[in-house]
Amino acid sequence: MPENDISEDEQYCPSCGEIIKRNAVICPECGVSVEEIPSMEERVRDTSEYKSRNGNGGSIGAGVGWMILLSILLFWLPILGPLIAGFVGGRKAGGVVNGILAALLPAIIIAVIVSVTFGLIAPIIGAILGAVTMVVVGVQSLILVIGAVIGGATA
Ligand SMILES: [Zn+2]
Repeated sequence: MPENDISEDEQYCPSCGEIIKRNAVICPECGVSVEEIPSMEERVRDTSEYKSRNGNGGSIGAGVGWMILLSILLFWLPILGPLIAGFVGGRKAGGVVNGILAALLPAIIIAVIVSVTFGLIAPIIGAILGAVTMVVVGVQSLILVIGAVIGGATA
């Protein structure tokens, strides 16, 4: 588009291409909101949803991933293993609240999966296994949460 065709206080309508006033909110030619397109992008950019998708400023998803990964890698290390996993996950989650959510989410998911899976095959064993898993994962999560709070606070 040739720049010299429009003056300082004019712009091209992003919808129909008509020359309109720069401070116009709605194009008088096609009626499309001129301000809509850039402001919508900025609004999306500002939401935490966008941030979590792109990993800017931490996300619960990243925190969960790191906690699961480090919990598996450091399973042989009692107390300190989940503490490190929680700390790193909490930092990746980007905050104390996100860190706690990231620490509890996998535990709840694992306990539900174990209860449901074994519950379908053998209801009584499933219930016992579910409860045992809940306790084991719960203890692990408690340490994870402590690590996540420290990690989240220093994120
Ligand atoms: Zn227009």
